[in-house]
Parts: sequence; structure tokens; C-alpha cells
Amino acid sequence: MLPTNEFLLALPKAELHLHIEGTLGAARLLDRAERHGVVLPYETKDEVDAAYSFANLDEFLALYYRGCDVLRDAEDFYLLAKDYLDTCEVENIRHTEIGFDPQAHLVRGIALDEVMTGLSNAIAEARSARGQSVSLIMNFMRDRAPSEALQVLESADRWIEQIDAVGLDSAERDFPPALFAEVFAAAKDRGLRLTAHAGEEGPSGYVVSALEDLGAERIDHGVHAEDDPALVRELARRRTGLTMCPLSNVELKVVPDLAAHNVLRLLDAGVAVSVNSDDPAYFGGYLTANFVALRDALGMTRSQAVALARGAFETGFANPKDIERWLVEVEAFDQAWVRD
Ligand SMILES: [Zn+2]
Repeated sequence: MLPTNEFLLALPKAELHLHIEGTLGAARLLDRAERHGVVLPYETKDEVDAAYSFANLDEFLALYYRGCDVLRDAEDFYLLAKDYLDTCEVENIRHTEIGFDPQAHLVRGIALDEVMTGLSNAIAEARSARGQSVSLIMNFMRDRAPSEALQVLESADRWIEQIDAVGLDSAERDFPPALFAEVFAAAKDRGLRLTAHAGEEGPSGYVVSALEDLGAERIDHGVHAEDDPALVRELARRRTGLTMCPLSNVELKVVPDLAAHNVLRLLDAGVAVSVNSDDPAYFGGYLTANFVALRDALGMTRSQAVALARGAFETGFANPKDIERWLVEVEAFDQAWVRD
């Protein structure tokens, strides 16, 4: 049975792979540019939307980092996170894990304190006012020096209570995970959870390296894990999460089209895959839109949608009691849903 849009919106969900800088939509981009007197090559929402097109990961990243230029102080980061957390409320995202890239801001002269103050204020408000569950993931950019990542980690020590995990992102090719073994070990020593992008444009060997050399507890993307059948069996056996991002993969040409995406094959092989939006302002939709697109392109059934939602909760970095509660909620929701 195929799930309706209504079911997919109401389904209790978790999102584990989301870059907060990638939620900068046209309206907020123009509003922040005006506030800071930043001159952009576009003036209207339509012009921004038309400009958000790219041929590959490198082109996308160039556009993405240009957009970051309007994010300058704590208010900007607060509003950015608040906009996204408002969307989570609407989409029934019970738990979200927000990634951010300190280096994308530090290189522009924006202090970590501005970023952390804005993000942590929005998160604290979402938790207290609406009971939203939010984890924060500090990502290191793999196309910058590993020594710089270590400095960023050390400079984040005064914010360590607000940070739940570290990740590794940005351009993947030619930057194998092993380069970052030292900073991941230092993050683990601080009690942080570990995740890493691997197998998006890089080979399946990068997935293996992220698990073995970095000790990553889950893999962001992992599309190319499928190229190694033994690895897929091992991921399934260990229930290692793959936080997959279907619309992103189409936009960045990781897959030729959505019909060729392997998320449901990996799900059926027993891997703990989840669906996520990555950089939704750039890739054509937030979390529910990714679920809808999978139904339309791949015939994702209602039970597969429920299994994907379960996979996200199961592999999240929330505390085990909350995870258990959400898994029960998903089950009860599915049982009780009669409106299809
Ligand atoms: Zn990502």
C-alpha cells in the first residue's frame, strides 16, 4: 500500500542529516543581506530560486558558501535555526540532529561564539517552549587541513556542553576519512558521538575507512556502500545507520535520477537507512518532500516509510529512553492510522 501525503506528513519522524547553513531559503537570504548591506547578484526571491542550480558538488558548494556570507552574527544563526525548527514542528519531526560548519564561518572572520550563541538560543527555546528534541553536530570540512579541524575542536571546548557529536563533510573526493583520525579520537575523548559523510561521491572504501579509522557510529550518505556486497552485509549485521538524502543525491548527480536510488534496496537488505534532507533550501524540499519523492519515484510502500522512520530514530544520538518512546509512538501511529 502506498502512503498518502497526509500520512507521510503526520508520521512521527527524525532527521539526522541536515546542514543548518543549507536551510537558508530565499526570503531569509534576502532579509539578512539587507540587514548587513551585503550586495547579492539577485534581488528577488525568484532570482534566488533561479540561481540555486548547479551541476555537481563543487558548484553547489561554491554557491552555498557564497550564501553563508549573509550569516554574520548570533541573530542570523538564531533565525536560521528557528526557521528550521519551526519546519520540524509542522512536519512532525520529533527529533532532529542539526549539523553546522564552524570553518565556513571562521574563514570569514565570524567568531565561533556568534554561531554557537545563535544556534544554542534557538535550540534551547525549541526544547523549552515546544519540547522538541535537538542534537547538535559540529562538522569538520574535509577539504581543509586536519590540523585546523583539531584547532576548531579545541576552541569549541567552552561550548562542549551544547555539542553532541562531530561529523565530517564538504568535498569528499581525494580527502579520505583517515586524514581525520586524530581529531575524531580527540572528539571521542571529549565524550562526543561520531558520524562522517562517506560514499557520497567517494568510493565504498571511504565508508569502510570512516567506520574503522574514525570510529564513526553511522555514515552520512553511504550511497556507494552498495558497491561492496560484503560491506552491505556487515552494515546490516551491525545495524549501522546510513543517513541517506535522496533529493540531494539527484541534485548533485550522485544518482542519475530518483528511480535509480538505492535507499529501498539497502532498506530491504536490512541496513538501518534513514531519509534526510541534507540542504533542503538548495535541493528542492524538506524531509517530508523526500519521503513523497521516494513514493512517487520508487513506489515506496507505507510499511517501507515506517521502517525508514524507525531507522532514523534507532540510529539517532538521542538518549535510549527517548528513542524507545519514539519507536513505540511510530508503531502506535501506524496501527491507528485509518485515513488512507
Ligand atoms: Zn551532508
